[in-house]
Amino acid sequence: LSGVAVDLGGTKLAAARFINDTLVERLQVPTPRDGGLEAKLECLTELVTALKLTAVDAFGVAVAGRVDGQGNWHSVNHKTLTGVTSVPLKDMLLDRVGCPAVIMNDAQAAALGEARFGAGKGADPCGFITVSTGVGGGFVFGGNMLEAPSGLPGHIGFTRNSYASRFCGSGRFGTLESVASGTAIARIAKDLGRDIDSAVDVFRAWNAGEGWAKTIVETSACAVAEACCDLRALLGLERIVIGGSVGLASGYLDQVATAIAGEPELFQVEVSHAILGHDAGLYGALSHAKRES
Ligand code: ADP
Repeated sequence: LSGVAVDLGGTKLAAARFINDTLVERLQVPTPRDGGLEAKLECLTELVTALKLTAVDAFGVAVAGRVDGQGNWHSVNHKTLTGVTSVPLKDMLLDRVGCPAVIMNDAQAAALGEARFGAGKGADPCGFITVSTGVGGGFVFGGNMLEAPSGLPGHIGFTRNSYASRFCGSGRFGTLESVASGTAIARIAKDLGRDIDSAVDVFRAWNAGEGWAKTIVETSACAVAEACCDLRALLGLERIVIGGSVGLASGYLDQVATAIAGEPELFQVEVSHAILGHDAGLYGALSHAKRES
């Protein structure tokens, strides 16, 4: 792996240079929430310029949201990703940075990164679920990502879940994302009248043994566990790697594993932490770019 990769999430924007399979330089800034698409692209351009991206580099870009077969970028949950409606991102990046980019969804990139280089190695087929600003995922069969012209495979956050009872920004009712994501965890706590800023505060309260926080975190974990067993039934996954800041928070994976253990054995699936942590999307995006170019 050599080249430059970018991971544009709902919360943070990371970019890295890789040389011979090794990440040698990494930059990260908060994703600009104001200023729409322009602000995001400007920030992205600054990071890849700082990493001295050139035309000989493989250039992989992972973004939150859906990327269709033509390299157009769309938000699915309009509340977590604003200002992205059918954006010709591939063309825009070429204009801005002068290098052709291979673009993909960020969770699919992380799935590929973990399957090829991380916690998914040796498990085929392998799934990945990120529990972060939203909930996303990806599926890797025989080392290759499950793809479709719509760019939808992996959007597990928009499947229905029995723990959910609200609409989410996708327009669907009762989605996994609406009950399990970091955004949902914070929103549910606020609805209960709790004075918190983000999911981090809810996890802090959970660790301090507060009952209200235990209910919220465990409901999120149970919802993810239900989705894992559904995926086992649907795709026969051998292992599901769990990432994202919520997924990687201390104690969360144990809750998911405990809930899975309560399902009939046939539908139980091994779960493990993403070992590439917050770099999984960067590895996957670059690896995909190398294969495509
Ligand atoms: P992105 O969605 O940009 O990929 P993350 O994976 O960091 O970013 O997810 C961000 C979400 O995770 C936010 O909702 C944030 O509040 C929550 N979060 C961040 N750190 C923690 C933590 N240590 N414990 C629990 N939740 C966290």
